[in-house]
Amino acid sequence: MSDRRGLLIILSSPSGAGKSTLTRRLRAWDETLTFSVSATTRAPREGEVDGKDYHFLSEAQFTQYVDDGFMLEYARVFGNSYGTPKLPVEMAIEDGRDVLFDIDWQGAQQIANSSLQNHVLSIFLLPPSIAELRRRLENRGQDSAEVIASRMRKSWAEISHWDSYDFVLINDDLDATEAKLKSIVTAARLRRSQQPGLTDHVRALQAEFEELS
Ligand code: 5GP
Repeated sequence: MSDRRGLLIILSSPSGAGKSTLTRRLRAWDETLTFSVSATTRAPREGEVDGKDYHFLSEAQFTQYVDDGFMLEYARVFGNSYGTPKLPVEMAIEDGRDVLFDIDWQGAQQIANSSLQNHVLSIFLLPPSIAELRRRLENRGQDSAEVIASRMRKSWAEISHWDSYDFVLINDDLDATEAKLKSIVTAARLRRSQQPGLTDHVRALQAEFEELS
């Protein structure tokens, strides 16, 4: 166990606002970041790896996890169940490691109301425009037209919760947004509450000060 509790860094956005890319870049920037691998009942997309991108579960398995109290939060998103397994998050933050979450507003709200609320850093990504959001969803080429149309409608539901986040970024330029995200994480790590070692440091400064004066 570490003196420092890790941060819970929550990134939410409507589909197509650049969240996956930015999550990837943040993880590459700081390999000590622990990515919270969610559980979901949706089918794996091409290239997704079980246990790395998601834990792919059946509805029955998911319900069992929830009933057993294994989920830190869970929600229905786009007709499927998604949830955050509690144990890996608790272990990481007890160890002083920061955890990165790619979850929706419902999950963000549940974590913000949990006993871990003092360690939450929540960030919302907005697209520059709805036309751009649609373009990005179409370019992905992974989902059918019907799925895209449904996600466009649901994007609105997600966007309407932008104002309950600590930070909001308009992602009109990936590199610039990435730089801002890193600044936010760096600043949050400097919060007094995230630096328990400060008390000892100031005590040492005081001892040195008294010795010299
Ligand atoms: P996708 O199916 O595109 O990977 O994710 C769909 C949405 O579900 C995204 O907005 C994503 O952030 C959200 N999501 C992924 N994992 C979780 C989770 O564990 N909990 C909640 N509440 N939402 C999640």
